Amino acid sequence: MITFEEAMTTVFRNAKPLPPALVRIEDAVGRTLLEDIRSGIDMPPFNKSAVDGYAARTADVKKGLPLRNVGLIQAGDTFKGKVGAAQCVKIMTGAPVPPGADTVVMVEDSSEADGFVKFTKQTAKGENVCLRGEDIKKGRLVMPRGTVLTISHIAALAAVGRGSVKTGALPKVSLVNTGGELVPPGEKLGKNCIYNSNGPMLSAMLKTDGITAAPVIVRDRVRSLHAAFSKALKSDIVLVSGGVSMGDFDLVPGILKNLGVKCLFHKVRVRPGKPMFFGVKGRTLVFGIPGNPVANFMAYLAYIRPAIRKLAGRADFAPDFRTGVCADKFAPRTPRRALVLSKVLAKTDYTLSGVTNNGSADILALAAANGFTMVKENGSINKKEKAKFITWL
Ligand code: AMP
Ligand code: MG
Repeated sequence: MITFEEAMTTVFRNAKPLPPALVRIEDAVGRTLLEDIRSGIDMPPFNKSAVDGYAARTADVKKGLPLRNVGLIQAGDTFKGKVGAAQCVKIMTGAPVPPGADTVVMVEDSSEADGFVKFTKQTAKGENVCLRGEDIKKGRLVMPRGTVLTISHIAALAAVGRGSVKTGALPKVSLVNTGGELVPPGEKLGKNCIYNSNGPMLSAMLKTDGITAAPVIVRDRVRSLHAAFSKALKSDIVLVSGGVSMGDFDLVPGILKNLGVKCLFHKVRVRPGKPMFFGVKGRTLVFGIPGNPVANFMAYLAYIRPAIRKLAGRADFAPDFRTGVCADKFAPRTPRRALVLSKVLAKTDYTLSGVTNNGSADILALAAANGFTMVKENGSINKKEKAKFITWL
């Protein structure tokens, strides 16, 4: 049986970046930039007033005599003419500073009467003027290829005139939840049935990575599974939950193989998620996750999200395991590598505590947790010792 690390490496090795996509900048948050963004313009593109006030010659303002107001310039307008000696032009924030003027006095530092303006404060040459290209010079690198775009990048892309950018593509994902016992939450629960936790949970997790996928429930019948998987295999990634263990109705691996999916591993020395199946068909990645929702959650963090990120062109796709200090003893009852649901608290360091675990299903423990603490094979970790963890909040 392969180790947790070997399983992750196998997934990452088989996840190959998809061809780039051109997307509108308002849709680009979360995506990886696949081109260097250089500015095609000077920013600002002209000498611009930084305040509402009067544009004039510095020498005239220094003299302290009233200046004749010869016009008004609004943002977006052009002043036809030039500011001459002993003249000024009323100017609004964002408007182009007219030729002749080399300073702008704030309206708060002035008084105007009968077409003449007096200033109560002097300004230096260039004061309150943003010079052409002061923020960004034409040709300057604004954002390097590889940047993972966040909400704070979009204004800069727009400012240099980019309506769309070349980014990594988001994979198409199909989501199949197997099991005759499953009912969508919100519907009436039949006899011997349980609600489908994995479908909505994985759908929500995919959304955090920018991907939309609706869960489909399929019963453990060869024909139904075969039909569902044939359709799902048209996607870049297929997520199947349930049906991968040793039960008489765990038909998933066999059917996937029949459909041409090459198995790369089936079982990993880790808890949760030991009977994990991973295979490929062409460029399609297929994850068969055991039914336990915590195993699905863990599989998403360890294998699926990194695969999505790698397909989407990200260099930092690997799961972000960090180091913290244990506030509890972690002694999982398994010889396998264990990922133990934990409460992670960030103080000056991270402290890791266990969460109350009430039995087999773990679903409430998951809801109370915000991380997994990792415990080595045949190991345990004492209070105050360091441990690796992964968090999602
Ligand atoms: P399986 O891997 O199909 O043998 O399922 C293992 C356990 O997880 C069983 O108790 C299932 O009822 C449960 N299970 C399977 N799929 C889901 C699901 N989508 N939501 C909640 N529990 C599930
Ligand atoms: Mg099942």
